[in-house]
Amino acid sequence: LRGVVALDGPSGTGKSTVARKLAAALSASYLDTGAMYRAVTLAVLRAEVSVADEAAVAEVAASALPVMGTNPLLPTVTLAGEDIGQEIRGAAVTGAVSAVSAVARVRELLVDEQRRLIREALGEPGGVVVEGRDIGTVVAREAELKVYLTASSQARARRRSDQDSAAGRVSDLESTHADVQRRDAFDSGRAVSPLRMADDAVELDTTELDVAGVLEQLRT
Ligand code: C5P
Repeated sequence: LRGVVALDGPSGTGKSTVARKLAAALSASYLDTGAMYRAVTLAVLRAEVSVADEAAVAEVAASALPVMGTNPLLPTVTLAGEDIGQEIRGAAVTGAVSAVSAVARVRELLVDEQRRLIREALGEPGGVVVEGRDIGTVVAREAELKVYLTASSQARARRRSDQDSAAGRVSDLESTHADVQRRDAFDSGRAVSPLRMADDAVELDTTELDVAGVLEQLRT
């Protein structure tokens, strides 16, 4: 399997784990586009710009493109040389990222950069696994394989909460569930590139399926 694998779906479906394992198994590169929206969001928060001020948000995005490391065994995100991999997973960024990613100009800038990174990765053997919300519908419509992961919101909240605990972050299942539903509504309802499944994507419900099960399904 060569070329682009697009892996989309809401958060907590096991997307990142599946994407990284799949990329490693295929000796492919791995691109986490959510981390790019998170990095821009961190820059917006640091600049103390209101997320409601679209022009100011777009300006920050234009001057703060993150640098992405695409090795699936050790993906990295840096902003002006600083490793921000941990900080972008924190509550402040998670709370603001939907608003930042709804700004059309931010999406234009990041989609351009994502396509550049995909072309770069395709120059090497093995292809690239790209995860996000709009990879199959916008960023890489020509992808060779499109997968759309879903799961019940309860299952997704439980996974998010487990991940937060494992990373040493305070986590509460009820508020995580509320946050998952809030982000779903926002991501699906936004005017630009709303979250939806591509017509030619394979849908996999991971509510009852672990990572090994998902990879097994993808192999068949
Ligand atoms: O995947 P992750 O949860 O890190 O993504 C964070 C947020 O970035 C999502 O909730 C969504 O608002 C936004 N996003 C997006 N388009 C993508 C990837 C992420 O709008 N391709």
